[in-house]
Amino acid sequence: MALKLTVIGTGYLGATHAAAMAELGFEVLGLDIDPAKIELLSTGRVPMYEPGLENLLRRHVAGLPDSSGRLRFTTSWEEVAAFGDIHFVCVNTPQKHGEYACDMSYVDSAFDLLAPHLERPALVVGKSTVPVGSAARLAARLAELAPAGDRAELAWNPEFLREGFAVEDTLHPDRIVVGVASEHAEKLLREVYATPVGEGTPFVVADYPTAELVKTAANAFLATKISFINAMAEVSEAAGGDVVKLAEAIGHDERIGKKFLRAGIGFGGGCLPKDIRAFMARAGELGADQALTFLREVDSINMRRRAHMVELAREACGGSGFLGKRIAVLGAAFKPDSDDVRDSPALNVAGQIHLQGGQVTVYDPKAMENARRLFPTLGYAASALEAVRGADVVLHLTEWQEFRELDPAELGAVARGRHVIDGRNALAPLVWREAGWTFRAMGRPHA
Ligand code: NAD
Repeated sequence: MALKLTVIGTGYLGATHAAAMAELGFEVLGLDIDPAKIELLSTGRVPMYEPGLENLLRRHVAGLPDSSGRLRFTTSWEEVAAFGDIHFVCVNTPQKHGEYACDMSYVDSAFDLLAPHLERPALVVGKSTVPVGSAARLAARLAELAPAGDRAELAWNPEFLREGFAVEDTLHPDRIVVGVASEHAEKLLREVYATPVGEGTPFVVADYPTAELVKTAANAFLATKISFINAMAEVSEAAGGDVVKLAEAIGHDERIGKKFLRAGIGFGGGCLPKDIRAFMARAGELGADQALTFLREVDSINMRRRAHMVELAREACGGSGFLGKRIAVLGAAFKPDSDDVRDSPALNVAGQIHLQGGQVTVYDPKAMENARRLFPTLGYAASALEAVRGADVVLHLTEWQEFRELDPAELGAVARGRHVIDGRNALAPLVWREAGWTFRAMGRPHA
C-alpha cells in the first residue's frame, strides 16, 4: 500500500514539501500550529510568495476543482498521528534571542505534541536545520514518549531548497541526504524519493550527525563564498579595481566556479546568518570552537556590507547626514522572487538610514506586507517610480528583474537628485550614467 505522509510545520519549507510530495503521488496531510495558515492552505492559497507554489498546491488540495485531492491540512495532532506512515518535521529553528545558538523550542514542541499520539509504526523525519546532536537527542525523546515504542523511529533528512526556486529544488534536488539508524528507515526514504532518485538525483545515506552536519557545512561554505567575494569588493574598492571583472575571471577556474560570487550588500534571510551562528555556537559546546573561528570573520564581513551601504548613501547625500534627505529603497525581500524579509539586508539598511533621520521610502514587488509589519515606521510606495519621486538618492538593494528593467530617464525625471547606488551589482552602469545619474556599485570603479 502506498505510503501516507504528513508534514508538520507548513511555512516556506513545509508548504513546499507537502505540495511536492502530493505531486510525487503520495497522500499528504499537513499540520501547523497556526490555524490561519491552515485555513489558507486548505483553500489552495499560499501564505507567502514562492513562484509556482500556489499552482502546485491547487493541483492537489482536496476539494478544489480538478485537483488530485491528495493533499489536506489540519491542526489535529491525533489526526496526523493516525494518518501518517512518515511524518516530516519542517518547523522553524530561529536564532535564540540575544545568543548565537539555535532555538530548538519549536522542534522540541513538535516532537512532544506528536510522539504521545504515535500508536502505530511510524518514521519521524526531521527536515529542519538543527545543531549536530539534535537527532540523537530527539530519537531518545521519541522512544520515551511514543506508545509505539521502538516502532516509532527517527531519521534526519536536511533540506537544501532555495527560496525563489523552492518548487523546482524540491521536485528536482541536487542531492538527497538521509541520516538513518536502520535499513528500514533507509528503505522507507528511498520509497519516498524514488522519483527524483530514478531521475538521477544522488541519494546519500549517512548517520545522524553526518546528515545534520552536511546541511550546516553547506550553508557555512556558501556564506564563506559570498563573504570572500565581498572581501574582494572591499579590496577592489580601495585599489580602484573592479570586483565584477575579478569574479568573472576567477570563476572561469572550475575549482572556484562562477556561482555565488556576486559582490553586494551581503547575505541575509532566515537561513544563512542564523545557521552559521548556530554552527559556531554548537562547535563551541562540542569543544571544537577553534575549527569555526573563520565563520566569525565571514559574519563580520557580511555585516560590514550593510554599514558600507549606509556610508555610501550618506556620501551621496552630501556627506553631512540624512536629515532632510529623501532616500528611495528598491527592494525589501532578502532576495528576489521571495517575500521573505527575515534578516533582510535591504530592510536593515533602510532601517539604519531611517534611524539616522533620513526619509526612507521602500518599494518591493512582493514583500511590502511583510516589510510593513516588521518596519512600520518606514515609508512605502506602490511602485519603483513612486518611491523614487522626490528622492535625493536611490538605493538598489534587492535584485528583482523588475529593477533591472527600470528606465533611468523616466526615474530621473521625477527624482530630486540623480544618485543611484547599486547594492547588488545588477544594474547596467552605462545606461544609468548616460541618463544623467551618478552611479556607484559594490567594489567597482565609480565615475
Ligand atoms: P517558517 O517559519 O516559514 O515555517 C515554520 C512553520 O512551522 C510555521 O508555519 C510555524 O507556524 C510552524 N510551527 C512552529 N512550531 C510548530 C509546532 N510545534 N508544530 C507545528 N508547526 C509549528 O520556516 P521555514 O523557512 O519553512 O524553515 C523551516 C526549517 O527549514 C528551518 O529549520 C530552516 O532553517 C529550514 N530550511 C529553510 C529553508 C528556506 O529556504 N526557508 C531552506 C532549507 C532549510
